[in-house]
Amino acid sequence: MTPLSTTAITKSFVNCSQGEAKSIAQPPGLLEQDWDALDYLGWFDPKAPGRAVIVAEHDGRLTGIVLRPASSEGARRGMALCNLCQQGRESDEVLLFTARKAGKSGRQFGNSVGTYICTAFACSALATDREGLRHRLGVFLNHVLERDAVGS
Ligand SMILES: [Zn+2]
Repeated sequence: MTPLSTTAITKSFVNCSQGEAKSIAQPPGLLEQDWDALDYLGWFDPKAPGRAVIVAEHDGRLTGIVLRPASSEGARRGMALCNLCQQGRESDEVLLFTARKAGKSGRQFGNSVGTYICTAFACSALATDREGLRHRLGVFLNHVLERDAVGS
């Protein structure tokens, strides 16, 4: 992906208020990222436990979404499957994340969509098929954006 600036990241969020977008901590090591090796940038907000974000190029636009990780307490042990890279991981390396929808139903009713994602957000390095990873990420972002069309 194209190298991101802190300003571009702050402006990219689609499913939170402007105030919340400004409060989100920037990812650590932004200048040292190997951008060619990434299909999205994801991180846990070190200032706000229970908040994580993913930023990706989607339909020609930088799109950031705020995610809430489900509690891992009580999760069954064993293997879990990340829905983005589709790699089986130890169950503590994959979590269910929910994102409030960006449209009216998210704002008015708090509707959200969820998916299982690697907690290290290293799907690009794990995926055997990065085209498939980008497609599945696009489908998830379309759900958050409440777009019916399934883009790739
Ligand atoms: Zn993954």
